[in-house]
Amino acid sequence: MSALHLGYATKDGLVTDRLKDFYVERAKGGAGLIVLGMAYVDWVGTGGVGATNVIGIDDDKFVPGLTELVEAVHGHGAKFAAQLYHAGRYSLSAVTGLQPVSASSVPCRLNRDMPRELSTSEVVETIEKYGEAARRAKEAGFDAVEIGGSAGYLINQFLSPVTNQRRDRYGGSFQNRLRFLVEIIECIKERVGDCFPLIYRTCGSDFIEGGLLLDDYRMIVREAERAGVHAVGVTGGWHEAAIPEITMHVPRGGYVYLAQGIKEAVSIPVIAANRINEPLLAEEILQQKKADLIGMGRALLADPELPNKAKGGRFEDIRTCIACNQGCLDNLFMRQPIQCLVNAQAGREREYQSKPAKAAKRVTVIGGGPAGMEAARVANLRGHQVTLYEKGDNLGGQMSLASVPPGKGEIESIVRYLSTQVMKSGVDIKLGTEATVDVIQEGKFDIIIVATGAVPLVPDIPGVNRQNVVMAQDVLRDKVKLGEKVIIIGGGSVGCDVALFLAHKRAIKDDSAFFLIKYGVDCQVTLSLLKKAGNNITIVEKLPRIGRDIGVTTRWIVIGQLEQYGVEVITDTEVTEITEEGIVIEKDAKQSCLEADSIVLASGYQANRSLLEQLKERQDGPEVYAIGDCVEPRKALEAIHEGFKIGQTI
Ligand code: SF4
Repeated sequence: MSALHLGYATKDGLVTDRLKDFYVERAKGGAGLIVLGMAYVDWVGTGGVGATNVIGIDDDKFVPGLTELVEAVHGHGAKFAAQLYHAGRYSLSAVTGLQPVSASSVPCRLNRDMPRELSTSEVVETIEKYGEAARRAKEAGFDAVEIGGSAGYLINQFLSPVTNQRRDRYGGSFQNRLRFLVEIIECIKERVGDCFPLIYRTCGSDFIEGGLLLDDYRMIVREAERAGVHAVGVTGGWHEAAIPEITMHVPRGGYVYLAQGIKEAVSIPVIAANRINEPLLAEEILQQKKADLIGMGRALLADPELPNKAKGGRFEDIRTCIACNQGCLDNLFMRQPIQCLVNAQAGREREYQSKPAKAAKRVTVIGGGPAGMEAARVANLRGHQVTLYEKGDNLGGQMSLASVPPGKGEIESIVRYLSTQVMKSGVDIKLGTEATVDVIQEGKFDIIIVATGAVPLVPDIPGVNRQNVVMAQDVLRDKVKLGEKVIIIGGGSVGCDVALFLAHKRAIKDDSAFFLIKYGVDCQVTLSLLKKAGNNITIVEKLPRIGRDIGVTTRWIVIGQLEQYGVEVITDTEVTEITEEGIVIEKDAKQSCLEADSIVLASGYQANRSLLEQLKERQDGPEVYAIGDCVEPRKALEAIHEGFKIGQTI
């Protein structure tokens, strides 16, 4: 299990029960080696902490707590390594109270704090801090340490000529820039001995203009091997790179080529990571000898039991990480502890322990979307007799539609998991059946869970019922034909999805683009073809920015894709009328017309509460609970977590 920052330590870096429970669950689930996510090597001196509630290892006071943690993990058979980390210019003064430090004073687009250059003596002291941290890790009983040298943290900042403009022995030539890393390795080995396993986690390429490429990292890792590193983990680029690293837009295993490239250059074991979320893909990478080991991080956040399920051939029971970042990375950016969209128990292992229900009851769930399926799954597991009504012909609800736009197909994995589980578990599923009050009454249920979701909102605009107006959901279902010029009213996630869906359909096909790239045909032509795809597609949004309901770690990718396709975006603009020729808009108190052949409504959703209200009118009936979007339209995370919670508590 690769290192993940969880945000479960105390604000002073101490181990908590929550942190312990989290790792114990992953050890029980069969992970061979777990790497503890980010332990800071220096807060007091150089403030190397870039998040809240990070684990501390820069003082002996942390050793007792870490020892307890290690013993707990060892109790379930896993090996445990500690990742040593210094954020450098990614450190946050709001957390540490100190100005961030770096190899040189080069600003960073992720952090408003300007870093200061470490003095030569501070560099030497920081190297010592890594050594001391490794000593503490060994004392606490860890089986290995991992040098956190990826993602653009301090070690990367020394290696790259972009961020290292020093004139002392730690800057300038390649060998000088490498010195910081090599001396860290030497110092650690001095403290823990030659035989204590030492892993180096590195980028395979920075993905930063002027930064290091795979060939540079091949040389760097060769030097690290020479200095005594025993294994190397390879990830994608820096956090500040303008290339997606771990969202669902990155194809599964998209960065394995970097691990493979490093493997060709060294003889130590290489660990491939990033977007490897299912065991058959992991096995394929190993079989093809592209890497020696596989590191999975979020995949085990989503399903701690993934290794054991894989071992037992229970592939369909694996709850796959969909790379949404909604519960994990987005939370960290908001300085919140991480959660997982698909796994409500992640980080709440003790609180949400599964226990059989005190008395088995007849339960009905109305609605086969994510909230309803999760409620049915959990209630059934706890021994209730569950009937699930879905008026459509398939389970999945809004989630199935959300997986349609380009780059979002991964969402289908959670629909697949939940529907498989409810089907296998013996839940009585009634597809194509509208659950009216009478139907429910006939079932003589003890508990009714309403998960009827939300319905698309039709804005109150004159002309909204014209022939040239269609709903976004019908576009995504490919149910309607659109004209050449399309205007999308609403720039939330659905409006952006529709624009990308249409542009992708009009763009040069993926296999044609691949063909052109393969034969080195003019790249500019391919790019201009892509750029044209979004011509004649316009998003009109009344707020100052689009994609406001998309998570912070994904929004920039969506906006970038819209730009890439040349989709026009008009913000701060009210649509006052829809006409035969297009729309009338009002911007800055001025009215004007925009021509269009088709108008797509993507104005959000409203809760579908009609059944709920009818049921609530009945005073003497069974208990009624509402979950998911029928309470209020929100994200899938809330829907699934509410489904879990109700299934767990009834
Ligand atoms: Fe994966 Fe999303 Fe869960 Fe993060 S929140 S672990 S990205 S499924």
